[in-house]
Amino acid sequence: MYVSMKELLTKANQENYAVMAINCFNLETAKAVIEAAEELNAPIIIDLLQEHLQHHLDYNYLTKPIKRMAENSPVKIAINLDHGQEIAHVKRCLHEGFSSVMMDASMYPLEENIRITKEMVCFAETYNASVEAEVGNLGSVAGNEFTNEGMYTNPEDAIRFIRETKVDCLALSYGSTHGNYPEGYVPDFRFEIVQKIKEATHLPLVLHGGSGAGETNIKKSIELGINKINVGSDFMKAQRDYLYEAIRKEPTIDYPNLIHQSMTAGKEVVKKYIELSGSKNKSIHLKEIV
Ligand SMILES: [Zn+2]
Repeated sequence: MYVSMKELLTKANQENYAVMAINCFNLETAKAVIEAAEELNAPIIIDLLQEHLQHHLDYNYLTKPIKRMAENSPVKIAINLDHGQEIAHVKRCLHEGFSSVMMDASMYPLEENIRITKEMVCFAETYNASVEAEVGNLGSVAGNEFTNEGMYTNPEDAIRFIRETKVDCLALSYGSTHGNYPEGYVPDFRFEIVQKIKEATHLPLVLHGGSGAGETNIKKSIELGINKINVGSDFMKAQRDYLYEAIRKEPTIDYPNLIHQSMTAGKEVVKKYIELSGSKNKSIHLKEIV
């Protein structure tokens, strides 16, 4: 069933677990993610990155079929634009039927980030869609930039941002980063940032760069109030590694079979994260409770 991300995150916030948001860029990745959610009866978010939409398949081709998959599924599924940085593109995604968008104006000074996000929150209301934003600097969306002192979210800024913009959920920078970590790199998570913001606002909070964050950091994050976890790199890597090995072993392997099997490899990663996030068996329909 196709739902708003707000509905998914409100329940996760009340019950203290996180919903997984997985980066997809074509129908195969979306199908693998939805199948993983169905097997574990978990709510799930299909995260479509602006950069992928602009360079691979755009929303004209992707939104309707993924929405159809969601409508035909027994589990609750939302579509979210990930790191929407161009206002016109974010608005077009809402018009196209996204149930949520991330308006990422985190590269601007706080005042400008507030102004842009506030406007998008008003605009999204027309579509009954939710808005995610970011305060802090998680580094390059494409990866390869790693933590430094300046990247951490200032809790006071985030609390003010939430109150002024009325955003539905907020991505924080408290130690994670996008992409794969360099060999031997141990991310330094500053959990007090999450704790302070949660205690002051009770808003669903978001962890980006879930890949490689590690089980302990993820569990602690959920405990303190993270309700959405973004994973892209681990999901992509599992499929790429599968393809590499399969072709190496059997260079003449049937191509449709190869793709199908790589989807299974991706699905297993999603299932592991669902178990870790506490969202397994959380896609309960109201009529089932009565
Ligand atoms: Zn991100």
